[in-house]
Amino acid sequence: MPSPKVRFAPSPTGRLHLGNVRTALANRLFTQRQGGTAYLRIDDTDRTRSGRDLERHIESDLAWLGLDFVPAFRQSERTGAYEAAFDRLAARGFVYPCDETADELEAIRRDRAARGLPPAYRRSARTNPSRDADQTNPGVGLSQTNPSHGVARANPSRDVDRTNPSARPYWRFALPDGEARFADLIQGARVLPFAAFSDPVVRRADGGFTYAFASVVDDADLAITHLIRGEDHLSNTAVQLALFDALGAARPETAHLPLLRDADGGPLSKRLGSLGVADLRGEGIEPLAILRHLAVLGTGNPPDPSADLEGLARTFDLAAFNRAPARLNLDEIRRLSLQIQRNLPFAAVRERLEALGIEGVDEPLWLVCRDNVGGLGEMAGWVRVVRGPIEPVREDVPLLEAGADLLPDRLGDEADAGAWLDRVKAATGRKGRGLFHPLRLAATGRDDGPGLKLLLPLVGPDRLRRRLRGEIA
Ligand code: GLU
Repeated sequence: MPSPKVRFAPSPTGRLHLGNVRTALANRLFTQRQGGTAYLRIDDTDRTRSGRDLERHIESDLAWLGLDFVPAFRQSERTGAYEAAFDRLAARGFVYPCDETADELEAIRRDRAARGLPPAYRRSARTNPSRDADQTNPGVGLSQTNPSHGVARANPSRDVDRTNPSARPYWRFALPDGEARFADLIQGARVLPFAAFSDPVVRRADGGFTYAFASVVDDADLAITHLIRGEDHLSNTAVQLALFDALGAARPETAHLPLLRDADGGPLSKRLGSLGVADLRGEGIEPLAILRHLAVLGTGNPPDPSADLEGLARTFDLAAFNRAPARLNLDEIRRLSLQIQRNLPFAAVRERLEALGIEGVDEPLWLVCRDNVGGLGEMAGWVRVVRGPIEPVREDVPLLEAGADLLPDRLGDEADAGAWLDRVKAATGRKGRGLFHPLRLAATGRDDGPGLKLLLPLVGPDRLRRRLRGEIA
């Protein structure tokens, strides 16, 4: 088997979101495990929506995630290669010019829908229906050797309007008859009838090439062996495999990762689907937590709470993915992230807090809170609890007043705080929740958090006394 070659091919039309990262990771882990090369290709055929700034963001997001790729190229730099491939297809009659306006295309769609046909635009609608493309080799997609494919001429009566030199045609690739058959490494054997697809546009009227075509030329030139991407690309794959055949290029293997769903199995919400690497980074999430979740997403295996990229690669296996949708679970990413952060040396935690703009957390406060926060961002609230000001919540005022009266001048440690709580208990007869809950509400303004004995020494007796008496402190 040739050394595997894969590519991650984002379009720089937005920041990387979790769906992109899953694809990037799967490609990267695949080559980490098998050896070979993982390329980064920038799909900027849509020049109006693509930007260099976004491209730089993609690179920095990948770097932050620790996913390194071999830079391949931008599609915008490859016009010469696309021209040459297009000429090859044209010379063999595999592409044909079209001139329908958007309104005419819409009319064709409506007409087909009325006749119960898929909304597909096919040359067969414009050409001699007797063409027998691919009949000699049904089911393998477009035969590379079958010269009958695509040689039928476009119907001259519908051909491009040569009388109007300003009307430039766009070009479609004539799909073969029959069906695309391929054995997907995740989805299994797939048979997709070409009749369901429109002949894909390969070249726009402005002369530019489309992603569907450019991608195949690129993959062929890079000798990509495995196309690993989301299930939403399955229909592209049917069309693109036919293009590989038409170009006489070897077909890559394909692996389509299961559809993403929300954690509850419902359709992926727009918010979660578009949640960017930048958002998670801004929230103080650990990159490795994202990778640990995404590496097993759709396999049913639990995330490995200790694996680095190398470790994730060791157990990464395309065959482990289910066809059932994968449940993207942000809470699990947050849990995995905290698990990492709880075990970091405090200096590393401080760096992360500073990056979030959170000041005033020292090591004792972190150690007391780290098992009680759902994310680093919550530390800002605990800084306020120990430094003030907060507004106490006063329930059971007699208890709070007794507590204030009994408070010593020093609350140096857990033992001091424990001794004070014992005295308040003895003096008031309160115990359990009846003791702790009102004290917590007054001391912290909240009804949950770390153990009071650990927390109160950090608040200190002066501030605590004022809060027990009902002052904002
Ligand atoms: N630029 C395409 C995308 O972002 C690439 C798809 C592919 O061929 O992997 O979806």
